[in-house]
Parts: sequence; C-alpha cells; structure tokens
Amino acid sequence: MRFCGTNFGLLVTAIFAATGSAWAAESPPFFFSDTAAKAAAAAAAAAPAPTAAPGPASTTTNATANSVDADAPTGDAAPPTVDVNSKPKSEIAPAKAVKPATPTSEDKAKAPAPIAAKKLFGAVKAPASIKARAIGAYSRGCLAGATALPIDGPAWQAMRLSRNRNWGHPKLVALLEKYASEVKQKDRWPGLLVGDISQPRGGPMLTGHASHQLGLDADIWFTPMPSRRLSNSERENLAATSMLASDNLSVNKKVWGEGQINIVRRAASYPEVERVLVHPAIKKALCEAGGTDRKWLSKVRPYWGHFYHFHVRIGCPADSPTCTKQAPIPGDDGCGKELDDWFKLLTAPPPKPKPKPQVAQPAKPVKPKPPLSLADLPAECSTVLASDGRIETASPPPAAVKPAKATTKPRKPAEHKATADAQ
Ligand SMILES: [Zn+2]
Repeated sequence: MRFCGTNFGLLVTAIFAATGSAWAAESPPFFFSDTAAKAAAAAAAAAPAPTAAPGPASTTTNATANSVDADAPTGDAAPPTVDVNSKPKSEIAPAKAVKPATPTSEDKAKAPAPIAAKKLFGAVKAPASIKARAIGAYSRGCLAGATALPIDGPAWQAMRLSRNRNWGHPKLVALLEKYASEVKQKDRWPGLLVGDISQPRGGPMLTGHASHQLGLDADIWFTPMPSRRLSNSERENLAATSMLASDNLSVNKKVWGEGQINIVRRAASYPEVERVLVHPAIKKALCEAGGTDRKWLSKVRPYWGHFYHFHVRIGCPADSPTCTKQAPIPGDDGCGKELDDWFKLLTAPPPKPKPKPQVAQPAKPVKPKPPLSLADLPAECSTVLASDGRIETASPPPAAVKPAKATTKPRKPAEHKATADAQ
C-alpha cells in the first residue's frame, strides 16, 4: 500500500502511522500457539524438499506451487473398488491397478493456495532458541536466535507493543541500545522511540513492511521520547509527528530541526549500518544541513514514506553465512541527480486514466500476486519456524549468495519492492 503513488501513498502511510493500523488482537506474547505450531510443523515438513514431493510439485516450475498443498489432487483420489456381491468369488478378477489421474490445470486451479508465510511467522510468539543468524534476503527470509529489545531502557522506549515486533538479531539489538545512549549523551536527544524491528522469528508480516524479515532493520521515530514512561495504551495510540510540510516536498521547520539531523547522522555513522531510509524531502533537508563532512549522507537513502520514522538497516552479521548481502550504496552523497530524480517523481502529474474502449469488453480477471509461502523462503526458515528451542551447535554450510543488483535511480513505487532500498 505504500507503493500506490505519492499522494495516496503519503495519505495512507499517514493514516497507518497515526493510528497504529488495524492490528488483529494477538494472544499474549511468549508462547507458540498450538494451531500455529501444527501448521508450521506440517508446512515445514512439506516445504523444504521439492524433489521428494510427487505429482504436481515436480511438474511445475513455479516455486510457489511447491507447497504444503502440492499433494492434494492425487492424495484425494478414491482407491479402486470391487463389488464382491455381483459374481461368485472365483470369478472375481483381480482389480486392475488404477493409475492416479494426472492433475489437470482445472485441478491445479482448485488446489488450495499454500499457506501464506506471513500467517505462519505472524502466529509465532517466541524466538527460535537456536544459534543466532539472519537467513535469506531482507525481504525474503527469517531470523533464528532473536533477542528482544527491552521495552524500556535508559534512553529508549519501544512502541506498539501489541505487534510483538521488538525482536532482532543480537547485533542489531546491541547497536540500538548503544545508539540510544549515545544520542542522549552526545546529541542531547531525550531518547529514542523505537518502532518495528522484527517478529520473534523474523519472516514476512501480516501487515506493513516488505523487509524487516531478518532482524536487521529497525524503525526509529523522528518524534523525541517524552521524559516520562509511556503507558502501554499510549504506546499503542500515540501518534507520531510527520516531519513534512503541507507541500509534502519539504520539511516542516516547526517540528524538524537540529535534533533530528543529529540522530540520523549518528545512525549513519556506525560502520554496521549500511542504510538509513528517509523521505526524499528529508534527505534534501539533510543534504542542505550536511556541512563539509558528506560521507554519512551516502548511507542516507531517499525512499517512499519514512517521514514519521526513519529506517536503520545493518549489514549481514558475520555469524550469518546465508544472509543475502545488499548491493553497495553509490559512493557519492546522493544529493545531486539521484535526489533530483526523486523530486521529479514526487512532482510528476498523476497518470492519465486510460480511455475507455468503444465496445464494452468483459474485464479480464486479474489474479493478485500470491503472498510469499514458506517454499519461497530459504529452506532453513522451515527449521526456524518449526524449532522447539533445541540448542544448535553448528551452522549449516554457507550457500553461494549473490548480492542484489545496485539500484541508483528511483523507480515507480510498485517496482520498488525488490530494490536494495526497499523498506
Ligand atoms: Zn522500516
């Protein structure tokens, strides 16, 4: 929903951030619900071995079809039967072996869709207590051995607690704690309000965020932390403040200032941090305030949304050999052509509606893209999902992981999901 054109995207993001969105009431954290456990275990058993799956799974080239339900058409076939009452026993011919019918495209269409991975990961309330590692890509992966950022710290408070998304890779959680204390001590910032990090086992989420799947991404509010401890209800309902002026192309000087510049600069200063995502208007304000030291600005990447909070992303930790590295950022400060291109996009007139055809034609049904299933994620994620807390001693062998292609040009929102800067 954040990819639907500037104005609409901004509006929806504004509503989303202001209201905390429509979160389904979740059971209390720190347990793994029985139903979810069964679903996860079933899915985990079926998903990681496509070569072992008979029938449709081996005939399709679509990875998403290699799923928990791939066996359904053949599994449901009735066994051959013989009417023993119609003829004497001696005349009963042995029943012919009945070949299971090859599933037709109609059968395939009828087959239930695989369980969305976001349902499985969204149902898990506790981390997989196995060796910490980030697995897969930022927008297609999961997290083992997560630790929780305590909801209160000397210089931070976690927000929207009902989401249970204050989990991260231990490296990120440690960095956030250090970052919070440094902005308080060195930048005279009252403290951080920390938004979403990841779910207990990472993975796709039921709402919001394409990334945040590896425990390596964290959202930090631009709003300074109040001096008092917020109640749980305030943490759910407190509205964040937009940093944008009414033109949506510049910052609102009434709320944007030196403090916000300092905390973004400090986040970008850590070697572990590879990217800090902010709205293009905020990037512009940072470019203007950047001074002579421009190096930190190269990590600050313009992106849709990100005017209530900024997004801090660390690189793949050394303990995570199957974490997919992102493309390196372009070397310059990003304040020139790249930013100009973003502003062209932000100010572009909305696309004209297509002229209606003269003769009324039946509308083609548009199949929505299926959500990620467990089979779309690295096989290790099935282990993470099904883990019952056994202590693991060895890491799996590292897979060859290619970094994604570098992207420097802004693209239309819908195409942005897969780029290195995707939120
Ligand atoms: Zn984010």
